[in-house]
Amino acid sequence: MTKLEEILEFNKIFIENKEYEIYKTSKEPDKKILILSCMDTRLTDLLPRALNIKNGDVKIVKNAGASIMHPFGSVIRSIIVAVYEFNVDEIFVIGHHSCGMCNLNTDSLLNKILDRGVSIETIETLENGGIDIKKWLHGFDSVEKSIEDSVNLIKKHPLIPKELIVHGLVIDPETGKLDVVVNGY
Ligand code: ZN
Repeated sequence: MTKLEEILEFNKIFIENKEYEIYKTSKEPDKKILILSCMDTRLTDLLPRALNIKNGDVKIVKNAGASIMHPFGSVIRSIIVAVYEFNVDEIFVIGHHSCGMCNLNTDSLLNKILDRGVSIETIETLENGGIDIKKWLHGFDSVEKSIEDSVNLIKKHPLIPKELIVHGLVIDPETGKLDVVVNGY
């Protein structure tokens, strides 16, 4: 059975048994919070449980490293929609220890891209077009510093209201323990 078949088969039974009923809620986040966090597999269930978050409580935006790559990229866009359309008034940027984006070896990653059949010419064309691939793939050297930078970027963004509260935290991906890096109050 393929992964798709396996998921579709499970899904059919899930619907038949009306297992969705316990998750019923609205698209308005009850706690008026948006969390920006990392796609790390260890956080999928651990993060909401360790923060007492259930379906309907918060908006969650995830990517590799809980990073904001660009002031007008998709993360800031999501935050702006959450703030103005869904009344979010506090943002929690939550990075984590032993993140794959911390000290990421971009040389090794680029070699893997080449090994999988992407040509060096393609890389060069992108580089000539002004895309610094290694810089773009690079994560961060310190999770705390990365979180501080993200908090500052959100706070100083020209489209973000001054009263928005932005916190920065680090979560332990084994225990769920939170440490505050930036207290937004
Ligand atoms: Zn991570």
